[in-house]
Amino acid sequence: MDYNNDELNAIREGVRALCAEFPAEYWRKLDEQKGFPEAFVAAMTEAGWLSAMIPEEYGGSGLGLAEASVILEEVNRCGGNSGTIHGQMYNMFTLLRNGSDEQKSYYLPKLASGELRLQSMGVTEPTTGTDTTKIKTTAVRRGDKYVINGQKVWISRVQHSDLMILLARTTPLAEVKKKSEGMSIFLVDLREAIGNGLTVQPIANMVNHETNELFFDNLEIPASSLIGEEGKGFRYILDGLNAERTLIAAECIGDGRWFIEKASAYARDRVVFGRPIGQNQGVQFPIAKAHIEVEAADLMRWRACEQYDRGENAGASANMAKYLAAEASWAAANACLQTHGGFGFANEYDVERKFRETRLYQVAPISTNLIMSYVAEHLLELPRSF
Ligand SMILES: Cc1cc2nc3c(=O)[nH]c(=O)nc-3n(C[C@H](O)[C@H](O)[C@H](O)COP(=O)(O)OP(=O)(O)OC[C@H]3O[C@@H](n4cnc5c(N)ncnc54)[C@H](O)[C@@H]3O)c2cc1C
Repeated sequence: MDYNNDELNAIREGVRALCAEFPAEYWRKLDEQKGFPEAFVAAMTEAGWLSAMIPEEYGGSGLGLAEASVILEEVNRCGGNSGTIHGQMYNMFTLLRNGSDEQKSYYLPKLASGELRLQSMGVTEPTTGTDTTKIKTTAVRRGDKYVINGQKVWISRVQHSDLMILLARTTPLAEVKKKSEGMSIFLVDLREAIGNGLTVQPIANMVNHETNELFFDNLEIPASSLIGEEGKGFRYILDGLNAERTLIAAECIGDGRWFIEKASAYARDRVVFGRPIGQNQGVQFPIAKAHIEVEAADLMRWRACEQYDRGENAGASANMAKYLAAEASWAAANACLQTHGGFGFANEYDVERKFRETRLYQVAPISTNLIMSYVAEHLLELPRSF
């Protein structure tokens, strides 16, 4: 694929122009105040960038994963944080692929216009972690309602979303043939749920990322909230993950490029021992190495985009792109911090903020170990470890 084509470059320029209105000081101040970038999210929504992958018939731009990935990459490359918007871009996949015509024609145009926000997806639970099939949150059908009980943790952007995709068990684990069966997904209207059976407890954390613990206590939701068929929710969630992983890889690549540009600029300017620090190979090489790694990860990201946009199985490429990009952005973050010496720790350089932000992507939305176990078991046919 020619990833320097006019269409992709026009997207890059458009996103950069918007991001220029939200400079480093904007993100720095929000980070200090632990604030949510309302103005930035509104501007991205209004410009139509967040509805990139919603088909045109539902009011979106109908673009592919390649184009969508460029949008998130550029936000991070400009010094911003796509973690504040990416949910709106990809949480709708589950609805788009598995929702009824009625659900799609009601919700997708509202998501495309930004009238409704679907920024949240609730999967992770405190006692089961990565072992998703053991989730304990249950949804029990009672007449024309489902009653939800249980607990979720690390669920992002709930306070800035109208809707949430929720994974819950509808058939007990003991009664299903395969542990991946018996889970279902629901579209929960947070505006009605919060305070009526759903309690939201914010989690203070190392990045400026709005994330929460959720407690469900007999939350009643309409039976029409079910997406697709009961019991098939885990499969539906997995189907959307390849796109999500590729988009996160692009965010990491944006971060990596930001760190490398920032480190190179500082290394050219900072004079110690009578010469620019960048003249020393000890300073040059970690930056050069990180650059090589970011560029290599980028190739895998394009492979994942191409496969996905052709309708092929992008599982292997998407996982490997996410792994490589998260590792590369972290290497770039370390090189950048080290190049800045003491100033790397000063808030006003933004390095420490981005350093914290990019670290997250080795843990969420899937940890590097779990990607390696996917590669070992699915690509190399090694025995299952769990
Ligand atoms: C800021 C933030 C935002 C998040 N947002 C969301 C969200 O919006 N929605 C949502 O559902 N979740 C969200 N998460 C949760 C995230 O997806 C999980 O934290 C992540 O998948 C890891 O799960 P865990 O924290 O339960 O770790 P655990 O499963 O407890 O694992 C802990 C460590 O052990 C390793 N490990 C576990 N089992 C194995 C094994 N078999 N082999 C090798 N290593 C293993 C893991 O790789 C990990 O490093 C978020 C997390 C964070 C930190």
